[in-house]
Amino acid sequence: MIYLKTNEEIELIRQSSLLVGKTLAAVAREISEGVSTLALDKIAEDFIRSHGGVPAFKGYRGFPGTLCVSVNAQVVHGIPGKYELKAGDIISVDCGVKMNGYYGDSAFTFPIGEVKKETLQLLRVTKESLYCGIEKAVAGGRLGDISEAVQSHAEKHGYGVVRELVGHGVGKHLHEEPEVPNYGRKGSGPKLSEGLVIAIEPMINMGKKNIKQEKDGWTITTADGLPSAHFEHTIVVKAGKADILSSFEEIEQVLKERKIEII
Ligand code: MG
Ligand code: MG
Repeated sequence: MIYLKTNEEIELIRQSSLLVGKTLAAVAREISEGVSTLALDKIAEDFIRSHGGVPAFKGYRGFPGTLCVSVNAQVVHGIPGKYELKAGDIISVDCGVKMNGYYGDSAFTFPIGEVKKETLQLLRVTKESLYCGIEKAVAGGRLGDISEAVQSHAEKHGYGVVRELVGHGVGKHLHEEPEVPNYGRKGSGPKLSEGLVIAIEPMINMGKKNIKQEKDGWTITTADGLPSAHFEHTIVVKAGKADILSSFEEIEQVLKERKIEII
C-alpha cells in the first residue's frame, strides 16, 4: 500500500530528515585520514540522541551501527568498524533517524584527502543523478520518470547503475512502498501524487552494475572491485516541484570550511 502523507506528517518527516543532515555534517567535520569508521558511528549516535532522535538503522534487522559506512568498492550497508580511512578513499555515509514516530533517511559520499579525478567525477555525477531524479518527482508524473532520469544521467557517463537495491517510501516506517529503482522507463510505474514521501538514492558504480554480498551478511560490494558512490535525499512529491525534506546544506558548508571539494 502506498499512502500519502498529511502536511503534519510531512513536517515531522522533515524534522527527522533535517536531523540526519545535521548528523552527517557532524560526521563531515571529523571525517579524515586515520579516523576509524567506528569513531564516525559514535559521533553520529551521540549527535542523534542528544538532539532527541533515535538512530534508525541500529538494530534494524540486527544491523549493529548508527551509520552504514561503505568505502571505495563497497556500495552500501558497510558495518562501522576498526578500518581507518586513508587518503584516496571515498566513503558513503548513510544515516537514518526516527523522531516523533517518523523517519528520515539521507546519504552522502565523501572524498578523503587527495582522491583521483575520475573518482571525484563519479561522486559529482552520482549527486547530479540524484537531483535529476528529484526534478522528475512532481505530481502527475510516474515513478518511472524518476528512475529513468537517474539512470540516463549516470549511464551517459558510462557508469553502472545498481539494480538490486532501490530507494523507497519513508514515513512511520523506514522502508515503505513504493520501491524507487534507479533504472526504468519514463511513463511507467505508479502515479506520483502530492504527499508521496520517498527516498531517492542512486548507487552508481564506476564500472559494471553487478554487485556481490560480503560474508558479513550486510556489506554490498561491486563485483569488479571498482569504486561506487551513493547519495540520498528524502523528498515529498508536490505539484510543479518536489520539496527536499533532508538537506546537504550543512554538510556542504562544513566541506567548504574544510576546503574539501567535490569537483
Ligand atoms: Mg539511507
Ligand atoms: Mg534509504
